[in-house]
Amino acid sequence: MKKTMLPAISALILCMGTGCGILTVNGGGFVHEYHEEYCGNNTANTEVPPAPAEQPAVTEPAVVPEDWRLILVNRNHAVPENYELKLLELSNGKSVDERIYPDLQAMFDAARSEGYAVKVGEGYRTHEEQTAMMEQKIQEYRNQGCSRSEAERAAADTVAKPGTSEHELGLAVDINSDYGADPWGLYSWLADNAWKYGFILRYPQGCESITGIEYEPWHYRYVGKEAAAEIQQQHITLEEYLS
Ligand SMILES: [Zn+2]
Repeated sequence: MKKTMLPAISALILCMGTGCGILTVNGGGFVHEYHEEYCGNNTANTEVPPAPAEQPAVTEPAVVPEDWRLILVNRNHAVPENYELKLLELSNGKSVDERIYPDLQAMFDAARSEGYAVKVGEGYRTHEEQTAMMEQKIQEYRNQGCSRSEAERAAADTVAKPGTSEHELGLAVDINSDYGADPWGLYSWLADNAWKYGFILRYPQGCESITGIEYEPWHYRYVGKEAAAEIQQQHITLEEYLS
């Protein structure tokens, strides 16, 4: 959710007529072909998918699967209350589930060997931090003139409702360029290579109606190498993989 670090993206907020919507414009020229092929099995090419916030958001606790790497948390599946976490603190103070660390480190080593300055911008986030983040985003829209309900709806497209963020699992990382470097080359490298280390681009472009979250080229989710390879090969989302 580090839009301030992405000068290539500008958000145009519309608060007119029936409500508040967001047009996200990618002015950086980064359009990875891989993303365009996502969600290719549905009919989204001929129909405008419904806005995520307009779909019923019934949220129930996620089921913890036998394979911990494949827990599905999204707007309909919340982090279970008794979900057990073993966190490992990274050198920059961020934390992740300790089980994903070896592959995360291997991925970062590979990215750095290719010349990318890379860092974990965000890892584990507490429920309280997620709540504060959502409230901050709502306030941003309120400051733009949106009503409370409009602001809540707009914020829900870009920030996961507290309790439904993968960051609360410790299995997701926001990967950013370090030292102020342009991030788009890194995003492209990640889109091509993260699967080799068990990570997937969790919110691909054009899949908002499935994931409920707008395209986030920096947000990667650990699912393990086997699932990541299949998801990459089939150009599908985690929701589709698990369905
Ligand atoms: Zn994220």
